[in-house]
Amino acid sequence: MRLVLLGPPGAGKGTQGRRLMQTFGWPLISTGDILRKAVSEKTALGVQAQHQMNQGLLVGDDVMIGLVRERTSEPDTADGYILDGFPRTVPQAAALDALLEERKQGLEAVVSLSVPETEIIKRLASRESQEARVDDSAETVLRRIEVYREQTEPLVDYYRGTGRLVEVQGVGSVDGIYAALKTALGLER
Ligand code: AMP
Repeated sequence: MRLVLLGPPGAGKGTQGRRLMQTFGWPLISTGDILRKAVSEKTALGVQAQHQMNQGLLVGDDVMIGLVRERTSEPDTADGYILDGFPRTVPQAAALDALLEERKQGLEAVVSLSVPETEIIKRLASRESQEARVDDSAETVLRRIEVYREQTEPLVDYYRGTGRLVEVQGVGSVDGIYAALKTALGLER
């Protein structure tokens, strides 16, 4: 199954994506994790992406599209994959559609995890103290939420129009959200 997890920062995309990966075996492709690794290893990609990431801004579409094109051609993705953090802009979504069409593949579902803004801010503030992500500082959190609203949220309508959108409330216990997610996707296990 090929899936996209869509939602604001702190919505639980990583947490739910890991659960799906553990249960069903599809690799979880987190573009944020790939970029953070590149930054820590000081690769050319990392050097290029670091500034935007630290500011809570988006890395350029061309860079991201190239990265996802490569990662989704690796052998472990043959039976499907879960995208977490990509696409984040309309051009990225259009590029993903084009890529899938070129490969004669479909996208089974786009899960929109919705969480109220006050809850997101609370979650990201507690993540800042636990995980020390440089982009979880108060100012950057607000920037990332703003960037989400402006550039990523339009994707909800983009995908709703294609009939592939599955909306799940991202509030409550991790287990409860996961159960709702599986039901919404028709995955009972
Ligand atoms: P995330 O872990 O998904 O919140 O991503 C952390 C940061 O990586 C974001 O704030 C962006 O700077 C960058 N990033 C991750 N995925 C993308 C993407 N698809 N497009 C642009 N920038 C991205």
